Amino acid sequence: MIRLESYVLDAWNAGEGSTRALLNPATEAVVAETTTGGIDFAQVLDHARNVGGPALRSLGFAGRAELLKAMSRALYAERERLLDVSTANGGNTRKDAKFDVDGATGTLSYYASLGRKLGEGNLLHDGESEQLTQSARFHGLHVWSPLQGAAVHINAFNFPAWGTFEKAAVALLAGMPIVTKPATSSAWLAYEMVKIVVEADILPAGALQFICGSVGDLLDHLGPQDTLAFTGSADTGATLRGGRGPVAASTRINVEADSLNSAVLGPDVERGSETYTVAVRNIVTEMTQKAGQKCTAIRRIFVPESLVDAMEEDVSAELDTYPIGDPAESGVRMGPLATAGQLQDYREGVALLAKEARIVYGSPTEVQTTGAAGVGYFAAPVLLRADDADATSEIHNREVFGPVATLVSYDGSASAAAGLVARGLGSLATSVYSDDKSFLGELLPALAPHHGRVLVVDRKVADTAIPHGMVLPSVVHGGPGRAGGGEELGGLRGLQFYMQRTGFQGNKALLDKLLS
Ligand code: NAP
Repeated sequence: MIRLESYVLDAWNAGEGSTRALLNPATEAVVAETTTGGIDFAQVLDHARNVGGPALRSLGFAGRAELLKAMSRALYAERERLLDVSTANGGNTRKDAKFDVDGATGTLSYYASLGRKLGEGNLLHDGESEQLTQSARFHGLHVWSPLQGAAVHINAFNFPAWGTFEKAAVALLAGMPIVTKPATSSAWLAYEMVKIVVEADILPAGALQFICGSVGDLLDHLGPQDTLAFTGSADTGATLRGGRGPVAASTRINVEADSLNSAVLGPDVERGSETYTVAVRNIVTEMTQKAGQKCTAIRRIFVPESLVDAMEEDVSAELDTYPIGDPAESGVRMGPLATAGQLQDYREGVALLAKEARIVYGSPTEVQTTGAAGVGYFAAPVLLRADDADATSEIHNREVFGPVATLVSYDGSASAAAGLVARGLGSLATSVYSDDKSFLGELLPALAPHHGRVLVVDRKVADTAIPHGMVLPSVVHGGPGRAGGGEELGGLRGLQFYMQRTGFQGNKALLDKLLS
């Protein structure tokens, strides 16, 4: 067992007092322990603001882009070891571990490339200037500048690598120092990655601080130039939003929370067609990748009545090809849930959904495993089916964070599909499968206000489309309502959360010269 430390005030800190244990979810063996007792969190924030921020901003965008590139390289060089840690503490298969770790290095690399094109300065112009009076000289223009505080990041347990570094990439490029905290249960991977970056001596002092465990009273000390980006459950998000510090100082907060994402098959889709096949593949991937513990996973599958039997059969047949077990064993395609608490939540959630939908595949209480002898937090994939869409409510309200999805039949009209999807009260991602232009023409604009991202798969892109759950740094991630109301990534759009937009009014020639 190893002791995970925090990295604060440019030094490793083992903490004091009682520790929290981290487990291997496949074996229930304790693999690490951690505590943050004794850390002075007010001092941590001051260090970021007073030391890290000025150092980062002295480098300009292009200089900071080089830091991101170096971070990506250093982490990639240790990829194999990181994948092993992801399996040992996250219960991830090798493929799932790569999804997380490569997502981290890929996002750093993407933002490094973007940053290089932004030049040596710290300001970004927002649109063209506009003449404000009769004088051709007097103009208004908008400029983004980096906030002068600390960027606090709090992440969920399911993506310790990607979650930590997708947020880090954007904040650091914008010019803000970070104080980052992974979920404690799966923190080992993030700890190893931060250690690699620290030992490679890439970042200036104060630019990166890492809290491995509770953040104590840190949030009470947040100020008006700080930011808080949170990913996790809606309940925790609501608590953090109402916190003393953020409320008093109007600290900018971004929340990425629960989401009941959907797949919608159009009325034209035929069983066995390319579009149908991609839909089945995406549904099964979303149910099984990281054992369904993904914020973007498809939870609701809306299928025209005539196609529901076929879809039930084909998804079930595909799920049969996923051996479940200790991901350290060869041949295993789906690992365990992350913690005993998650397993309990999955069982309770499926029981709730089963009150209004039939379980047509799997069982929440029985699971066959490979290489795991009566231990581990294993959960079988469960497919449910609801034939009366109007009689469902929990399906649109309860996110079961595991390998669970529900087939819901509908009449094949765009208005019915849009109405059902909207009952999720705001989602991160929905994928639509159709070649029917009139169906898509009505459905897509109706989906837009309820989503951060919509994947549209027609025959022409069926073989090249990205998977439903893949979050690319160039496209926004987030969603309204239940999904938290936040937005991350999206190329340069992501930087805006860490910057202030200011409208300048005055002599155009002067402003152009001074604010370039
Ligand atoms: P969680 O229990 O809300 O925890 C999330 C993070 O918040 C953890 O780092 C946790 O730390 C921390 N935390 C909890 N209470 C806190 C408090 N009072 N003050 C400061 N920090 C606090 O969520 P989770 O179980 O890790 O993640 C599962 C949920 O996250 C799911 O509902 C999923 O939908 C959502 N999620 C959303 C996205 C997205 O992008 N929208 C992505 C991934 C996951 P400790 O671990 O130390 O308690």
